Amino acid sequence: MAESHSEEQAHGGSGPSLGQDTGVGAQAALRDIQQALRRQRRLDALRRTALLDTPSEEAFDRLARLATRVVNAPVGLVTLVDRDRQFFKSCVGLPPPWCDVRQTPLTYSFCMHVVASGEPLVIEDARKHPVLRDNLAIDQLGVVAYAGVPLTASEGETLGTFCVIDTQPRVWTDEELYILGELAASVMTEIELRASRALEAQARSAEAARAEAEAARQRFALLAELSALLAEGFDIRAMLARAARRVVPLVAEGLMVELLEHDGRLRRVAVVHQEPSEEERLRALPESLSLLESEPRATPSVAGHIRLSGPEGSFLRLPLTSHGRVLGVVTFLRLPQRHSGEIDSSLAEDVARRMAMAVENARLYEEAHEAILLRDRFLSIASHELRTPLTALRLQAQSVLRGTSPSARQSAQADVTGKVQGICRQVERLGHLVDELLDISRLSEGHLSFQLEDVDLAEVLRDVSSRFQEELVRSGNRLVKVGLDAPVVGRWNRLRLEQVVVNLLTNAIKYGQGRPITLRLEVDEEHVWITVRDEGIGIAPRDQERIFERFERAVSEQHYGGFGLGLWIVREIVHRLGGSISVTSRQGAGSAFTVELPRHPMPDPVPLLH
Ligand code: ADP
Repeated sequence: MAESHSEEQAHGGSGPSLGQDTGVGAQAALRDIQQALRRQRRLDALRRTALLDTPSEEAFDRLARLATRVVNAPVGLVTLVDRDRQFFKSCVGLPPPWCDVRQTPLTYSFCMHVVASGEPLVIEDARKHPVLRDNLAIDQLGVVAYAGVPLTASEGETLGTFCVIDTQPRVWTDEELYILGELAASVMTEIELRASRALEAQARSAEAARAEAEAARQRFALLAELSALLAEGFDIRAMLARAARRVVPLVAEGLMVELLEHDGRLRRVAVVHQEPSEEERLRALPESLSLLESEPRATPSVAGHIRLSGPEGSFLRLPLTSHGRVLGVVTFLRLPQRHSGEIDSSLAEDVARRMAMAVENARLYEEAHEAILLRDRFLSIASHELRTPLTALRLQAQSVLRGTSPSARQSAQADVTGKVQGICRQVERLGHLVDELLDISRLSEGHLSFQLEDVDLAEVLRDVSSRFQEELVRSGNRLVKVGLDAPVVGRWNRLRLEQVVVNLLTNAIKYGQGRPITLRLEVDEEHVWITVRDEGIGIAPRDQERIFERFERAVSEQHYGGFGLGLWIVREIVHRLGGSISVTSRQGAGSAFTVELPRHPMPDPVPLLH
C-alpha cells in the first residue's frame, strides 16, 4: 500500500495546479482549498452522515450502476473523502481487491481534488495531467479518464464525489456530465436522508439517556428521602406509613407492609394506595384473608420473593429481613389497567431493605428501652425487698440484746426463743430472695443442674408441704392435700421439683388471703399434673399471661413484696422438664396454677426459651 497522505497534503503550497491556468487566481483557489480542507466542519458533517464504514446499499449502488450505463463507463463510485482516506459507499465495476476493501489512501484519490475545490473535475487522460499523472490510481486502479461531481450537503460541506472512471482516454460530453450531476443530486438526497435518520436516532438515544439519568436521580432522591423518613422517631407504624406514602406511586400504585408478630402472624401496619377506593378495600380486608385469590398465604410467602399477576392486578411481595431474620413482608401492588410495566424489583428491594432496617432499629430500641425500664423497676423492688427482712432482723436482734442485759435478766426464756425464731425466718426469707436472684442468671446461662433421677413426686409434695406447716399456721391458711398418698414415680430432678412447688405454695399463701389452699396431684401413664389452688385475690385476665415473664407483677408493691421472679423460674424449670404451666383465675375468687409434666422427659431436657 502506498504511503499515507492526508487531506491537508492534497495540495501543497507550491507545484502545478489542476486547471490550465497556473496564475494568481489558481494560487488563491489553492489557498481556499487548503483552508476548506483544514476545516473540521467538513469532517464533522461527514461523521454526521453515519455512512463511513457502513456496508454497501442498493439505494446508492443503483445510482452508481445507472451512471456507468448512461455514460458507458466501466466504474461508478460514491466516494466519501475522509481525513486520510477515501471510502466507497458504492463501488460499481471497481476491480479487486479494491471492490472488497472499499477504501484507498488519499494518494489514490482523484476525488479529494473535487472535495478540495467543491467543483466538478473532468479529466480526459490523467496520464497527461500535470497534477494527476503521478497519482497511484492510474497504475493500481487503471484510472485514465475521470468525471467527478461534488456531493455537497445542504449546509455547504462537500462530503465526497459521485464519479465515473474509464480505463482509457475519453472525452466526456456535456450531456453525460449533466446526467452525472443529476444523479449526484439523488445520491446527496439519499445521504441527507440517512444523516437525518442518524440525527433522529441520536436524539432518541440522548432522550433515552436523559430519561434514564432522570430515573436514576429520582430513584436516588427517593431512597435518600426514605432513609431520612425511616430514621425519624421510633414509632415504627407511623414511620412505615410515611415511607409507604412516599413510595406510592413511584414504585407501584399501592403498597402494604405487614409485620411478623410474636405469635408468628402477619399484622398489617401500613396500607397505601393511589386509588382511594382500592386503599379502602385493602384496609377492609380481614387480616387472615389473602390479598389476591392466587396468593399462597403460607410461610413461603413470608420467606421468599413472590411475583404474581392476575386479573386483579399484579404484585411483588418481598420479605423484610434483617440479619437473616424475617421481620415481615412488604407488598408492592400494580393495577391491571396500568401499562407502566413490571414493578422495578431492584428498586423494590432497596425500599424493602430500608424498611427492614428501620423495623429492626425500632425493635432494638424498644427492647433496649424496655430492658432499662425493667432493670430500674427491678432495682427499686429489690432494694425494698431486701431492706424489709433486714429491718426486721435488726429490730429482732436489738430486742434479743436488750433481753440479755442485766436489767432484763428475768426475761422469759420463751420470749428469747420466739425472737430468735423470728430472726431465722427473716434469714430464710433473705436467703430465698438471694436464691431467686442467683437463679435468674443460672437459668439464663443454662447453669442450673437438671440431672434426672427416679423421684417419688408424691413424697416430694408431702415433704415440701410439711416445711410450710409453721407458715400456714401463721397465715391462717389450711392446706388440703389430694392424691399425695400413693407414690408417683417418674424421672425428674428432685431439687427443681421442690423449687416449683415451693414457689407455687409461697404464692398461694401470699395471695391466698388466709383461705384454704389445695395441693392436688393427678397422674396417668405418661403425665402428672400438680395443681395449687387458692381462694385469694385472683388475677385479672389481662395479667394472666405476663405474670410468667421476668419481673412481671400484677399487685402493688406496697401490699405485697416480691421480685416477680417466682413464676418465671417455675415456667423455665417446667419447660426444661418438657412440661407446661397454666393458670385459671378469677379476680377476688382465687387462682389455680397447674403444672403438667411428662413422667419421662427426653434424656436431653428441652433448651430454655428466653
Ligand atoms: P412475686 O410473687 O414475687 O411478685 P411471682 O413471679 O411469683 O412473683 O408472681 C408474679 C405475679 O403473679 C405476682 O406479683 C402476682 O401479681 C401474681 N400471682 C402469682 N401467684 C398468684 C396467686 N396465687 N394469686 C394471685 N396472684 C398471683
